[in-house]
Amino acid sequence: MRAVLLPLALAALFALPAHAAPEQDLPAIAAEVSPAELQGTLARLVGFGTRHTLSDTRSETRGIGAARRWVQSRFAAIGRACGGCLEVVTPSQTVTGPRIPQPTEVMDIVAIQRGSRDPQRVIVITGHLDSRVTDILDATSDAPGANDDASGVAAVMEAARVLSRLRFDATLVYGVLSGEEQGLYGGKVLADYAKAQGWQVEADLNNDIVGNSHGGDGVHDNSTVRVFSEGTKATETPAQAGKRRYNGGEVDSPSRNLARLMAMLAERHLTNLRVEMVYRTDRYGRGGDQVEFLNAGFPAVRVTEAHEDYSRQHQDLRTENGIRYGDTIDGVDFPYLAQVTRLNLVTLATLARAPAPPQGVSIEGAVTPDTTVSWRAQPGVAGYRVWWRSTTAPQWQHSRRVPADATRLVLKNIVIDDGFFGVSAISAEGYESPVVFPGDAGAF
Ligand SMILES: [Zn+2]
Repeated sequence: MRAVLLPLALAALFALPAHAAPEQDLPAIAAEVSPAELQGTLARLVGFGTRHTLSDTRSETRGIGAARRWVQSRFAAIGRACGGCLEVVTPSQTVTGPRIPQPTEVMDIVAIQRGSRDPQRVIVITGHLDSRVTDILDATSDAPGANDDASGVAAVMEAARVLSRLRFDATLVYGVLSGEEQGLYGGKVLADYAKAQGWQVEADLNNDIVGNSHGGDGVHDNSTVRVFSEGTKATETPAQAGKRRYNGGEVDSPSRNLARLMAMLAERHLTNLRVEMVYRTDRYGRGGDQVEFLNAGFPAVRVTEAHEDYSRQHQDLRTENGIRYGDTIDGVDFPYLAQVTRLNLVTLATLARAPAPPQGVSIEGAVTPDTTVSWRAQPGVAGYRVWWRSTTAPQWQHSRRVPADATRLVLKNIVIDDGFFGVSAISAEGYESPVVFPGDAGAF
């Protein structure tokens, strides 16, 4: 006799098959990313002429100050559109250094979307606002920084626009950093802020140079993106290093298993985008803001296009011997940038909806034919998955699902000596945390 008018969302839910695909929101989230939005943001950033860290801060139209204020106003507008779901903060430090001769305030613009269930768990995405030309101290020449790194900032702001319409268990932090080119200062400012707030940072996805698909090596590749991750933790102690050297773990830092998760998500949910994992903290001899997160003990990766064009990076705008130098907007491939942004979004959504990575992961089974994998019980988990792989395999190969009340699994006739093992935690909707390698080497 009761009215049976079902709200639309509920009706859609009932229409799902009994065993709905896990992570069912991810393709829809990815589809919301708009190349036109990215292009609009990027054009606006390039329009500030230079965003050099030492450039003018008072002008309303040119320099880092105007650019920062525009980013702040954009975050505020996105926050209004989601009913006040974003809090915008501007942590800063006044610094001098080899590339900052006079004391200069380095300020980050950061939007915080508090998690509804576990707000101290924090997932971060970053890009850097500052730009440069050939002379690192030249703060007045045009430095469009279209790809390095307005592309990364555009990805951060698009993430805020799309994900602010949804709710997440963990907190999402959208960081637009400064001072990268002068010595990774903005990364340190945000990492210090995170520590002071007591944030439990589970990941920083640092996007730096993510929009160009035509490499200086002549290759046009719009379907690959590199994800750099450190092998062993920057904060590893000598005692931890000793254990790790003996038992393994040099390719299983939390950052590395974050990169593995990204590779798996790309394969599962994105069309025509493959993650090339690089087993390095950054490009050879070069750096990025994720390094300061790693130094603070937070898992972090660097996301960068597959083939860089060095004639466009850190260059005065000029033509020489028929070659055009400079980081101008015509070098950005917006459909490609949109693909890289989608990878970020599906990763952020997964991490913020999945349970926290399991804690207290350990293994035992020496001189027996079986391996026992254990972990600490964790509330709000729908189940766990125990993973293993050959010691030389780049990706996790085998897995077994176990129920929510389990805290250990005995893998019968799987010899501990011959594999690497780990555990992930899974939510009721099928969102899965990164795999955690046992001991200090792999702990998040
Ligand atoms: Zn950069």
